[in-house]
Amino acid sequence: MKIAFIGLGNMGGGMAANLVKAGHTVRAFDLSEDALASAKSAGCETFSSAREAVEGVEAIVSMLPNGAIVKTVYTNEVIGHAPHAATLIDCSTIDVATAREVADAAHAQGYKMVDAPVSGGIAAAEAGTLTFMVGGERHAFDAAQAVLDAMGKAVIHAGDAGNGQAAKICNNMLLAIQMIGTAEAFTMAQKLGLDAQTFYDISSVSSGQCWSMTSYCPVPGVGPQSPSDNEYKGGFASALMLKDLKLAMEAAETAGAKTPLGEQAKGIYERFAQEHGALDFSGIIKTL
Ligand code: NAD
Repeated sequence: MKIAFIGLGNMGGGMAANLVKAGHTVRAFDLSEDALASAKSAGCETFSSAREAVEGVEAIVSMLPNGAIVKTVYTNEVIGHAPHAATLIDCSTIDVATAREVADAAHAQGYKMVDAPVSGGIAAAEAGTLTFMVGGERHAFDAAQAVLDAMGKAVIHAGDAGNGQAAKICNNMLLAIQMIGTAEAFTMAQKLGLDAQTFYDISSVSSGQCWSMTSYCPVPGVGPQSPSDNEYKGGFASALMLKDLKLAMEAAETAGAKTPLGEQAKGIYERFAQEHGALDFSGIIKTL
């Protein structure tokens, strides 16, 4: 298949390379020369604008920093320039409202479009093991699936346009709250004289068990290998968790959803990210 890929950064670079490995022709564009050079060495054809990259393609994948950029790129470079039969697939994490607005603009000109944000970080993007949560009409989802399968281990239809973004921010709000709770419990257990490994052995088979404990423990040396074993380097940056919490709180306000713990988590990560934005989000335990 002939696919355009726009946004070849930490995530997009690995994803585009996996499309090439799956046998697709990938027409790549990024504003960064370095990102374009890496994409070229991974086997992509490179172009000097998104508008050129989308010429004659059957699908377009984008992995961009935020909603304003996604809207500008799709409005000015993709919609009306790509063939009308092409499937538009935005994998960036952006606000639900912009995702729906861009999808409406695409539908108005006859395109199929999905929002398909991912769970999994840079390592999963490189390994092709991302999870895609996909919002869009069934026929658009079906058309996107063949492309997404080459970059992920799971592709799940979440409903109509914007629902992929809704799933992503609800999941990450829950993850942030759960990580803070896990960090508080381990810190308090230790202050009460309970060894961290002993608390893990008990809580991991009791009702407090959760992913932040048993797959990504914020205490070094406890549970499987995770960023806490590497001084909280790598993993999912606190600045990106904060970005997702801000999107979640915006969406909660628009939808009239009550999220008191989500608000608290946003405040806690806001303070942490001021100095430690590059550290993994499990590093929040350092503040306790
Ligand atoms: P990044 O900053 O490494 O990459 C973004 C790329 O987009 C850059 O190479 C930049 O030059 C390019 N870009 C910006 N404006 C452009 C434009 N107008 N035209 C073409 N290219 C443009 O960011 P990333 O870490 O790859 O994240 C991308 C998206 O994935 C974000 O929405 C992020 O929230 C989401 N995400 C990231 C992770 C992660 O662990 N990094 C995990 C899940 C989701």
